[in-house]
Amino acid sequence: MDLYARLRDVADFPSPGIAFKDVTPLLADPAAFAESIARLVAPFRDAGVDVVAGIEARGFVFGSAAALALGCGFVPLRKPGKLPAAALGVDYALEYGSDRIEVHADAFAGRGRVLLVDDVLATGGTLAAAVRLVAQAGGKVVGGAVLVELDALGGRARWVVPAPLHAVLHIA
Ligand code: AMP
Repeated sequence: MDLYARLRDVADFPSPGIAFKDVTPLLADPAAFAESIARLVAPFRDAGVDVVAGIEARGFVFGSAAALALGCGFVPLRKPGKLPAAALGVDYALEYGSDRIEVHADAFAGRGRVLLVDDVLATGGTLAAAVRLVAQAGGKVVGGAVLVELDALGGRARWVVPAPLHAVLHIA
């Protein structure tokens, strides 16, 4: 199945010059959604993953489905101020300004082998922040999985953990 054909390019969203990879056509197609999840988790079936951590917001969609496929739990990495219990956070730089992601402080207690999931790897800053956050919360990153890697942006260079980073689709 051609999953590339289920992505939609939206020019100049959310700001001028950005070619946004819209995954909603893929999500709306049950066969494409199922295949994307099967291919997302395939390298990690025997990796002893305890929990999938998904990055808000599209990482929740792919991450929770990936957790069900692997038979493990799910942890949300959230935008600031959203988590109800005691949380830890990491600030990271964006092209313009900064952002922050947070996780419940006890999220990885007793289930420390973590697979990070997001929809798109662009410059890699978000995933790098997620790696730092998982470490801060006492988890061990055993892999990363994204649906789409934008190869030209070089985000993979910021993946510094000794664990595989898997992309289902590559776009130059
Ligand atoms: P980055 O930190 O630059 O790797 O950006 C990754 C995050 O921003 C992911 O959570 C993506 O959902 C989102 N993102 C960045 N660039 C794009 C893009 N061109 N299309 C869709 N999502 C993007």
